[in-house]
Amino acid sequence: MSAHQVTVRAPAKINLGLSVGPPRPDGFHPLATVYQAVALYDDVTATLRDDSDVTVEVFGDFAADVPTDSTNLAVKAARVLQAEYDVEEGVDLVIRKTIPVAGGMAGGSTDAAATLVACNRLWGLGLTQPELQHLAADLGSDVPFCLVGHTALGRGRGEQVTEVMSRGTFHWVFAIAEGGLSTPAVFRELDRLRPLRRVEPPEVHPELLTALLSGQPAALAVALSNDMQAAALSLRPELSATLQFGLDQGALAAMISGSGPTCLFLAADSRRAVDLAVELAESGLCRMVRQAEGPVPGARILPAPIPR
Ligand code: ATP
Repeated sequence: MSAHQVTVRAPAKINLGLSVGPPRPDGFHPLATVYQAVALYDDVTATLRDDSDVTVEVFGDFAADVPTDSTNLAVKAARVLQAEYDVEEGVDLVIRKTIPVAGGMAGGSTDAAATLVACNRLWGLGLTQPELQHLAADLGSDVPFCLVGHTALGRGRGEQVTEVMSRGTFHWVFAIAEGGLSTPAVFRELDRLRPLRRVEPPEVHPELLTALLSGQPAALAVALSNDMQAAALSLRPELSATLQFGLDQGALAAMISGSGPTCLFLAADSRRAVDLAVELAESGLCRMVRQAEGPVPGARILPAPIPR
């Protein structure tokens, strides 16, 4: 079934465990990660064009930091679908951005995932989830996870995803830093900091999977880990103060989100998450604070477009 206009809502991701192996000959680092999708969303509205052009417009909190040319990941996703399935129609994409840009939360990847879902419907392609997953992996390591959402194990570069059982809802607070961090730069810093001979193959700690099954925030708090954290803190040492501030205010755990510079905090419940968010906002340590629960589903078509 095709449509004239489709809006897809796609979540940010966090990495509850992020284990990074030594770089492969092609330069990529093998990962073993546990992703969780959280209720911080970008909405992508796709409107049919008669010609084959693909355009993008971005508005919202972080719009100024997002490219609107062919390097935008949403445009790339639409172009890949067009090329792969000989689509002659085009699309106007409008992204309402609430996920921090270059914040280690897969904002660009989730826009690509949303665009795949939207254009699949808009152009009446009828692609199945496995077919979309296949295209997603070529667009970026995090894109397949953004399609499925919930909680999942990511292997390879992160693109080989399998669902992980998780009970209950966890309450997260995000301190969004000024400026971004380039993911490749953080990997380079990690390689500089670690003697490569001693780097083990990546693995997911069994305690993390047990904690997710328990649904207990206190158990999850001690099982979180991120190999990228030392490298992100080396490039942005001031983030240590933000992490410590959150712990002092009662967060059960504090960690860099993915490659940073967003700091994430696990709260015991939703009330404590609100309290922590207020304290962080008043601290002057970060640009912005957001609160979100997880897990939530991946990219989903909304019943009606979101008004601007
Ligand atoms: P990840 O966690 O997947 O490493 P990230 O959250 O750190 O990613 P993104 O927000 O995806 O980073 O942005 C990385 C870069 O990608 C930005 O600096 C931006 O120039 C570019 N980019 C391209 N398309 C988009 C998009 N639709 N939204 C955000 N950034 C985009």
